[in-house]
Amino acid sequence: MRLCLGIESTAHTFGCGIVSFDGDIIANAKAQFVTDKGGLIPSEVARHHEEVKERVLKQALDAAKVTMADIELISYSAAPGLSPSLLVGLKFAQALANEHKKPLIGANHSVAHLTIGDLICKAKDPVYLYVSGPNTQVIAFAGKKYRIMGETLDVGLGNMFDKFAREIGLGFPGGPKIEKLAIGKYVELPYSVKGMDVSFAGMLTKALRFHKTGVSTDDLCYSLQETAFAMLAEIAERAMAHLDKFELLLIGGVAANKRLGNMLDDMCKARGAKFHAVPLEFSGDQGVMIAWQGVLQYVAGERLDVEQANIRPYERIDEVNVSWR
Ligand code: AMP
Ligand code: MG
Repeated sequence: MRLCLGIESTAHTFGCGIVSFDGDIIANAKAQFVTDKGGLIPSEVARHHEEVKERVLKQALDAAKVTMADIELISYSAAPGLSPSLLVGLKFAQALANEHKKPLIGANHSVAHLTIGDLICKAKDPVYLYVSGPNTQVIAFAGKKYRIMGETLDVGLGNMFDKFAREIGLGFPGGPKIEKLAIGKYVELPYSVKGMDVSFAGMLTKALRFHKTGVSTDDLCYSLQETAFAMLAEIAERAMAHLDKFELLLIGGVAANKRLGNMLDDMCKARGAKFHAVPLEFSGDQGVMIAWQGVLQYVAGERLDVEQANIRPYERIDEVNVSWR
């Protein structure tokens, strides 16, 4: 079996995934940087990744019952992300490629979220709703590129949840804690949709102000979710309508949220479309998606000089040359 090793290191997760060139998922090992204080300090994240990288690689190889000799291709996350942690992945991938004489491919992490979603959900041409810590984007493939149809004008939804949670002392990551506490009643928060774009900064400010005046955490968590998710459903639906697409694929760490999935599923059902939620293990950051994206680019003929391999911390999804579609 032809195998690719994918190395993820854009942000809090260091991951090593192994997939076959046919799209079988063989191993998915990862270690996540977590802190009670909340927030990601780039140098601390990079140190974490340095500490765990050998162990995570060994875990993946052991789970796959292979050695580096059985790996045909190495893929790493070249973009976008925190420079110090991207560099850990790049240097690790370069060292492995040199030591074991393997070809190397650099993948865009955001595109990899989309393509692993397509693989796992067998989606053909969906509108993608990508909701992670830093990102909130509605994306679709049109005119040979992944186009951002709408996005947040300020913070990503996951980061907004994380900031709210940190400010009121719930710790990091905030999203899962907010989901558990979202059992209150609705208090009105700013519903901010501007064309195809959304904004979450006003909602965060208002929710924190409510917190200071004694509104319960349950009410605030519930209201943050209801308001933010309704905004996302609105722009996702508009993108599907305008582009005449009949699938919606939800990805990114916030895709773990059940209420968000249910709301989007209802919206899709109402318009005769299919909703795909990427299973938890593959909706957040992991190495499998980097491995699969590497396979797509390599099979399409892409080649990279190991010494020329780089990181591109700010590369946007619409800058990626899509050679494989
Ligand atoms: P990612 O950047 O794709 O790894 O996603 C991480 C983000 O997802 C963090 O901001 C988390 O707070 C958020 N997240 C994780 N699980 C949930 C959940 N169940 N509900 C809402 N947000 C979540
Ligand atoms: Mg991500």
